[in-house]
Amino acid sequence: MKKRRVVILGSTGSIGTSALKVARDIPERMEVVALAAGTSTTALAEQAKEFGVSQVCIYDETRADALASALPDARIYTGEAGLCTLAQLPEADMVLISIVGTAGLKPALAAIEAGKDLAIASKEILVMAGQIVMEKARKAGVKVLPVDSEHNAIFQCLNGNHGGPEAVSRLILTASGGPFRTWAAEDLETVTLEQALKHPTWSMGRKITIDSATLFNKGLEMIEARWLFDVPMDKVDVIVHPQSIVHSMVEYRDGTVLAQMSSSDMCFPIQYAVTWPERVPNSLKQLNFAEIGQLLFEAPRTDVFPALNLARRAGADNSTMAAVYNAANEVAVDAFIQGKLSFTGIWKLVEKVMDAHEAVDPKGELEPILEADAWARKHATLLLEK
Ligand code: NDP
Repeated sequence: MKKRRVVILGSTGSIGTSALKVARDIPERMEVVALAAGTSTTALAEQAKEFGVSQVCIYDETRADALASALPDARIYTGEAGLCTLAQLPEADMVLISIVGTAGLKPALAAIEAGKDLAIASKEILVMAGQIVMEKARKAGVKVLPVDSEHNAIFQCLNGNHGGPEAVSRLILTASGGPFRTWAAEDLETVTLEQALKHPTWSMGRKITIDSATLFNKGLEMIEARWLFDVPMDKVDVIVHPQSIVHSMVEYRDGTVLAQMSSSDMCFPIQYAVTWPERVPNSLKQLNFAEIGQLLFEAPRTDVFPALNLARRAGADNSTMAAVYNAANEVAVDAFIQGKLSFTGIWKLVEKVMDAHEAVDPKGELEPILEADAWARKHATLLLEK
């Protein structure tokens, strides 16, 4: 039984705090060795005190002094360089990337370089540069353990597959369908921020909650799955499952489907990533099938929610389009949060930015991807200002 020594980047967010819950629940298997956040100094200092962590990073360097006063004995790091230093600490053997957006990309690559296993929640990283991350990890002999519940489920359903990739006919991602699953298309025009932030089954950060409402979250996950499991986009399917009990499935070529189930709590996939390949008992809520009664499934309404078809287009080949899909969506969600864009304006803006992009094959290099990302943010902002 090995105890994992884990660095948590993004410890003050929804995934980060769930990871700390796991560390409290199974202390014999998980030790927290370093923590990082963007701006939340007070929360970060409290976490560091509770877990006896003496190396912390606050991305916003203007808050370093405040953090140093709260943690006089700790070593304080800042910015991207600080995140990368934590990702390479000799005393760590796993880095959990739970930073929202793409700020975790360089730290993830730094962790791979230092031979640390990665637990990745930040799907944006794999959407943007999945091929590069997975290729570097393979070469370095580093394990990439998915934390996103759907991909963690697929990872579990693929365990024990001795037939290689050709034995798998489909990866089936489940989607809750979000709060507007049954709404008429015309009613979506008037969706408010408050309505979009009410997820029916999961409690998560703001960005991913809005992405779940537009189905962009599922679109990002389709591209994430393509890279994590090295399958073509046409082998990735989505089915709406409003109860969020089946977290995803793998269909094999003999027609057998394996599904992974648990109650909807991110502690399950986080724990599995940390204890993999072993399973250990915990205090989480178990499923009661007699209480659940039925499992419901329905086809996604791709005509009303275009995010899935846009994702299929963005992830169809290995091009910079996936980075553009992700970056334009980030800008659009931010504009929606600030009241500058309507709910349906999110996918309209992303589609316009994708239409204007001349995609190229990055040929395994990060530079064209970063350029496409920057271009998409600029172009989306320009379109918003018009
Ligand atoms: P939150 O918004 O709740 O938390 C984001 C975390 O990232 C916070 O700790 C924040 O710190 C930190 N952060 C933001 N910017 C930086 C930065 N530049 N440097 C260091 N830390 C930074 O997000 P979630 O936890 O919901 O999501 C995190 C990631 O996990 C996303 O990519 C999301 O898609 C993915 N994910 C989330 C799930 C969920 O259930 N929440 C499920 C599956 C995947 P601060 O508090 O200081 O701002």
